[in-house]
Amino acid sequence: MRIDVVSIFPGYLAPLDLSLVGKARETGLLDLRVHDLRDWTTDRHRTVDDTPFGGGAGMVMRPDVWGAALDDVLDEGAHLLIPTPSGEPLTQRTAEALATEQHLVIACGRYEGIDARVAEHYRSRPGVRVTEFSIGDYVLNGGEVAALVVVEAVGRLLPGVVGNPHSLVEESHGAAGLLEYPVYTKPPAWAELEIPEVLLSGHHARIERWRRDQALVRTAARRPDMLLALDVAGLDKHDLAT
Ligand code: SAM
Repeated sequence: MRIDVVSIFPGYLAPLDLSLVGKARETGLLDLRVHDLRDWTTDRHRTVDDTPFGGGAGMVMRPDVWGAALDDVLDEGAHLLIPTPSGEPLTQRTAEALATEQHLVIACGRYEGIDARVAEHYRSRPGVRVTEFSIGDYVLNGGEVAALVVVEAVGRLLPGVVGNPHSLVEESHGAAGLLEYPVYTKPPAWAELEIPEVLLSGHHARIERWRRDQALVRTAARRPDMLLALDVAGLDKHDLAT
């Protein structure tokens, strides 16, 4: 997969050299390129913003500079992702869908955001898809953190990036529609807290049942909205009793 990130702070994306994503770049599983939007400016001051039409506080990013950058970076079949607090929520389902694509381009806004004509213009361009997405109901200073979130969420789903693909199966927000059960490691007793005995039993069916119960209880306590969204037909008698 190829991902291009365009930002006025390319240095903000430095963490993408680290850990699993960094390794995926090194091994060629992920072709990730970070660009400085100011490389597409034409004036002496390398200006990317201007005052908002209609007045008001702050500055807005200019469509002509973004247009020059995106015309160069977007190719046929690319998916343009524009982070914005007014976008559709980014979820694990979104990440799964994006992980099947060939080319993502992430346009990181700053100030009051990018001139609205940019999304409109590329939405009408044949062969390009545009999604405005939000990583949560809060406002950040810029889209770079949202770009890091997308690359991390999508990158780990690419085949070969996570060493043991089984570790992706039982996670929170997976196919079961639940949060993950609590996990423990050595030592078995720590700070006067012991791990649940069942995990030492070696009895796989009992452990699996315990984990499922814990996932249900945790989801009910922390994310009742997810529990309500579960398909009742997929629940067994024990689930319903839990
Ligand atoms: N004036 C905008 C509004 O109220 O919707 C907020 C602009 S914000 C200060 C600047 C940039 O940060 C946005 O263009 C976007 O790239 C990014 N951003 C801020 N919050 C975000 C969020 N929750 N999800 C995704 N991107 C966000």
